[in-house]
Amino acid sequence: MEGFKSLRQEIFKKIKHVRRKIKGKRVAIQLPDGLQIYALDILGFLENIGAKGFLLVDQSFGACDVFDEEAKKINADILLHFGHEFIYKPKINTIFIPLKYDKVYNEKFLRMLKTKLKGKVGVVGSVQYEKAVKQIREFLEKEGFDLIENRPRGRIKKNAQVLGCNYSATEGADSVVLVADGYFHGLGAMYSQKRKQKIFITNPFDENLEMLSQDREKWVKKRISLVLEAKERKKFGFMVSLKQGQNRLRYAEELKKIMEKKGYKVYLFVGNTFYPESVRYYPVDVLVNFACPRIATDDSQNYKGKIVLTAKELEMMLENKFDEYVFDSLA
Ligand code: SF4
Repeated sequence: MEGFKSLRQEIFKKIKHVRRKIKGKRVAIQLPDGLQIYALDILGFLENIGAKGFLLVDQSFGACDVFDEEAKKINADILLHFGHEFIYKPKINTIFIPLKYDKVYNEKFLRMLKTKLKGKVGVVGSVQYEKAVKQIREFLEKEGFDLIENRPRGRIKKNAQVLGCNYSATEGADSVVLVADGYFHGLGAMYSQKRKQKIFITNPFDENLEMLSQDREKWVKKRISLVLEAKERKKFGFMVSLKQGQNRLRYAEELKKIMEKKGYKVYLFVGNTFYPESVRYYPVDVLVNFACPRIATDDSQNYKGKIVLTAKELEMMLENKFDEYVFDSLA
């Protein structure tokens, strides 16, 4: 894959940059999938500069999932968190090393792109594609397009950045150009729409431009029919994550109280990471997900025999309000 080489170079450029801060220290390392192939080289580098390296091997899910507690347990002085930007303050000294691709688009692609866009345009992306997002934005600006500001709300600190649970940077756009890998962010942008938008997904490595074809209305109808089905059930399990960046225990407890007043039985299931297996044997009818909201929207079919709702869908159920679908955003 093109860019692979530069990614490796980028990792070492960044570690060398913080060399003085980590030299002689106990250093915990956290890498997301895709960067783990560099782990042993990073450990080797740490050894060479007289630091003690500890690889934290649990699966790392996102910017919301900093392994500060784990690093504390091994008395690390510092945590190197690769792949994501800072969105909340960890409980240990942490250096965030978000890795960004150098790759940008060619002229031909940009000329083609401009023929597809209408109305107000938003250009956003995942953190790795910051450079390509900036390039598209500057190009469209010169071409006289009406660009929205792409200013995110909540925990995201960088302009034009999206997370799987936060698409506030796309609000107000008629056409959204989303630079990211795969469909994960594209679908999230579609779920969270407040107005009809055309969503184009692309990344500069293949220079393809695909308009997301999923029918949001159909998707919303399906989600609402699940909510209505859940309303008739009695036993609910609330999945609450202990991860600092996903922890919504207080919110879950508030909704539990309201549910109980209405005669529902609610159990609190608390854990670090939720999989279908972790709750398979608990005989509830409905799971309400207070952890990463994408568990409910993208994986619910894997929780066999149970309905899985987002916390916002549960609120819709309690308020009996279905006119506007509310995406569960971890703002
Ligand atoms: S909560 Fe989910 S979507 Fe949001 S940053 Fe974490 S893993 Fe990504």
